Amino acid sequence: MTTNGVELERYLPRLLENGLDAVNVSLDTLDPQIFQQITGKDKLYQVLAGIRHAVEAGLFVKLNVALQKNVNEKEWLEVAELTKILPVDVRYIEMMPIGYGKKYEPVDHRELLGRFKKIYPDLQRDESIHGNGPAVYYRIPKAKGSIGFISAIHGKFCQSCNRLRLTSQGKLKPCLCYGEEVDLMEILRGSEGVIRKWRLQECGTVELKNLSWENETAIRKELLRQRIFQAVSKKPQEHHFERVEEITEAKQMVQIGG
Ligand code: SF4
Repeated sequence: MTTNGVELERYLPRLLENGLDAVNVSLDTLDPQIFQQITGKDKLYQVLAGIRHAVEAGLFVKLNVALQKNVNEKEWLEVAELTKILPVDVRYIEMMPIGYGKKYEPVDHRELLGRFKKIYPDLQRDESIHGNGPAVYYRIPKAKGSIGFISAIHGKFCQSCNRLRLTSQGKLKPCLCYGEEVDLMEILRGSEGVIRKWRLQECGTVELKNLSWENETAIRKELLRQRIFQAVSKKPQEHHFERVEEITEAKQMVQIGG
């Protein structure tokens, strides 16, 4: 589960009962004022309490940090050093120029890694598996957790991108850089119109008299499978975040669920 962590402590017992075993929490700062500036809420201590309880409950905990120049950049080391005392992964995510991110300049991870290596010349590459995401991990010697870099801009890991995002409106998004979407809601909740369209294409008729519930479900499943394949086939070879005029995604991240 990925969360802003504000209600994590409150819902943790129920989440654990229902089998939650890992959680990603956004933690861009350890400064309450900057937290308020970024999120609009004075909830840092609530989030930290949620993280502490999640760790104590034995969950795998990843903390996501998006560094922004002139906002939270100065805390780049402080957040990473949480790994010295907590068995968590602190993951730096290069801020993408989508929605809110358009207003801020991201911190280049190539430079950030250089800074870490200066402070910790014995920084070790951590090759262990931390999930199936694109982060590249390192470890401060003797630390309990690792530091990950998700270099969305300068890393260009699109060739191995295994993500499709399903929005709350039931649209499947092949890529964060582009506005293209494939509608699944129509298939899942659409009226008979969807089936009629399919019947017309497949059988040349919209006759539905003998269509049982099982048959209708089977048709919807097949259409769903086709749309998912369609979304996968629309994944781009690579993004062009460096050429702002080519970014066609106009939504905020919160609308995408990314
Ligand atoms: S294909 Fe799109 S979503 Fe995947 S890594 Fe590239 S930019 Fe990100």
